[in-house]
Amino acid sequence: MEQATAWACSSAVQGIQRQGETMSTIALILSLAFLPSLLPLRQEQAKAPQVRPDRARLERFHRMITSSVRLAGTEGDLKSADQVKEVFLAAGLEVEEQEYLVYLSRPKKASLSLLGPKPRPLPLGEKGFEWDSASYKSTEVLPHLAYTPSCDLEERVVYANYGLPEDYEYLKTQGVDVRGRIVLVRYGKSFRGVKVQLAEENGARAILIYSDPADDGFAKGDPYPKGKFRPKDGIQRGSPLYIFEYPGDPLTPGEPSIEGVQRMNPKAAKSLPKIPGLPISWGAAKPILAAMGGPVAPRTWRGALELTYHLGPSSVSVRMKVENVLEQRTIRNVIGLLPGKSGKKGDFVLVGNHRDSWVAGGIDPASGTACLLEAATLLGKLRRGGYVPELSIRLASWDGEEFGLIGSVEYGEQFRDFLGAHLRAYLNVDAAVSGPNPSLSASPSLAAFAQKVWGSVIHPDTGEPIANKKKLKAGPMGGGSDFQVFLDHLGIPCLGMGMGGGHGVYHSSYDSHWFVKNRIDPGFRYHAAVTEGLLRLLRPLAANAPGCFRPAQGFAVAITWLEKLKPSLLHLSLDKKEYEDLLALGKRVETLAKKAQQRLPPKASADLEKLWLDPEGLFGRPWYRNLLVAPGRRTGYAAKILPGIQEAIGTGDRGRVQRSVQKLRVLLQQAEEALLGLAKKGGTPHKK
Ligand SMILES: [Zn+2]
Repeated sequence: MEQATAWACSSAVQGIQRQGETMSTIALILSLAFLPSLLPLRQEQAKAPQVRPDRARLERFHRMITSSVRLAGTEGDLKSADQVKEVFLAAGLEVEEQEYLVYLSRPKKASLSLLGPKPRPLPLGEKGFEWDSASYKSTEVLPHLAYTPSCDLEERVVYANYGLPEDYEYLKTQGVDVRGRIVLVRYGKSFRGVKVQLAEENGARAILIYSDPADDGFAKGDPYPKGKFRPKDGIQRGSPLYIFEYPGDPLTPGEPSIEGVQRMNPKAAKSLPKIPGLPISWGAAKPILAAMGGPVAPRTWRGALELTYHLGPSSVSVRMKVENVLEQRTIRNVIGLLPGKSGKKGDFVLVGNHRDSWVAGGIDPASGTACLLEAATLLGKLRRGGYVPELSIRLASWDGEEFGLIGSVEYGEQFRDFLGAHLRAYLNVDAAVSGPNPSLSASPSLAAFAQKVWGSVIHPDTGEPIANKKKLKAGPMGGGSDFQVFLDHLGIPCLGMGMGGGHGVYHSSYDSHWFVKNRIDPGFRYHAAVTEGLLRLLRPLAANAPGCFRPAQGFAVAITWLEKLKPSLLHLSLDKKEYEDLLALGKRVETLAKKAQQRLPPKASADLEKLWLDPEGLFGRPWYRNLLVAPGRRTGYAAKILPGIQEAIGTGDRGRVQRSVQKLRVLLQQAEEALLGLAKKGGTPHKK
């Protein structure tokens, strides 16, 4: 991969500037360490009346928001922004809006046919059903892999399973060459952007991504409309933007796309895919797979279709005609504000959910939007009853998430300094409800708090607290939703929650209000539970209650991983003494952080999270500045702990491993210094 040099240079400059920023973070921690302990949670709760989510209203919000197709930058999207604004205003919240002119993509035409003696068109439409009005809207958003270039080409096809690195390796061992071919891969196991980038790196001319029924169709359960799984014609649209390089507007990495900011040439944008592509249904993929020649595919490559899967190339060519419009369009975030005692310009807690979708987006994201709007309505009610939290609360309806987390990233980049100084924690809900299973991911520092609080909500099916049924464990935060900029770029403690379950309507026109109401959550009981959970998580944080943050946990996680990586580190970079010293340093920092978190006020505790920020960022992707966690480069969604070191080990490059270990060592030394400074200031005895 070649680097976008313009950005590499400008980020080196930023890197120097941000050295200062790190130092001021430490100064900030020192200055805030000994504020008097603030209002305890119980008093705050006693003061404010209790509120309960209203299931009928949740259903109304859900119907309202799914009534338009909300492809980012289109009329339906902007109409929904006004709807959200009205709900915020009706709740008595103040409203802040941001507009950004960003690079987006829109499908104009798409067709696919199988050539040969009897050419036949392959179906790209989704069928409409009379009871589900959204299912008719499939033609409004054609099958689309956002940002892929337009094409009109004829070529033979090779099958590459999930399109993972090892799949391409296997094809090589079988003598099947993908260079110059259309590669056909199936969804699953990795983010679609990784699939497109790997196809590109392996020399494919274009890519088709289909949904095999083994992964989310009839092999999993009854398809829509009878059940929840993907029907023959269901298509997973989506953006393959290389957000693992940097998310947000592809043309303004690291900078907000506002007036006066320079846009790069799309040809230089490192996050844009370079080869044409199209997502297709299994109904369209089946004839291509049936025409595939070459060796029989191994067992793990076979899906659930009734045919013998072959590696290819196909005996006949496929003609692929795609017209995509790539252009600058306006997106709009809408933020509801409930000012606390800290005031508008003071410390706050942020809840966010994206509003844009591929078609009607019933689960993704309208289930989360309904919960966000209900939370806003209930907070408004509390406010009328006299509730004034210590910290302000903001509720964000992000735009442009589906294309690459654009609305939230541009916001994070525009208000970098303000957020760094005042944003206490970020709570994300995306596809908040898709089934009965409570889910949670969190920064290590928030994990225990989030488990306890979300786990205490009554599960609508059992009538018992969620954590009684099954232990609720917070997973690490990876990638692919709006928390990314706060977690990975700004070092803010984050969490994401919801209730999940398997389904196969993701990014299709069947993900609708009808589907959610009839197949996922009749009565909107799970929506009510998620809203309740959101409010319970929000209120102690906004009350400035002690005990929410445990920053030592991040260091504990890092130590666990250093121990896991010991064999590779000893093999590639460190001698035994160096390794033991590094581990001992990590343990000292953890102990100091543990002592600190017991007595620091919440703000200073939350700020310790910023000790993980490195101004230069990860090797080759400087936008990612959090050395503790990042989405994996080759997985896209899954989290990698100590990503710099793990990625360096993956390359086997000794120098790179040494450099990434050195980065960690310096970070831990700075953390130790900062924590010792804190301890000294508090007069707490400590052992070095
Ligand atoms: Zn989503």
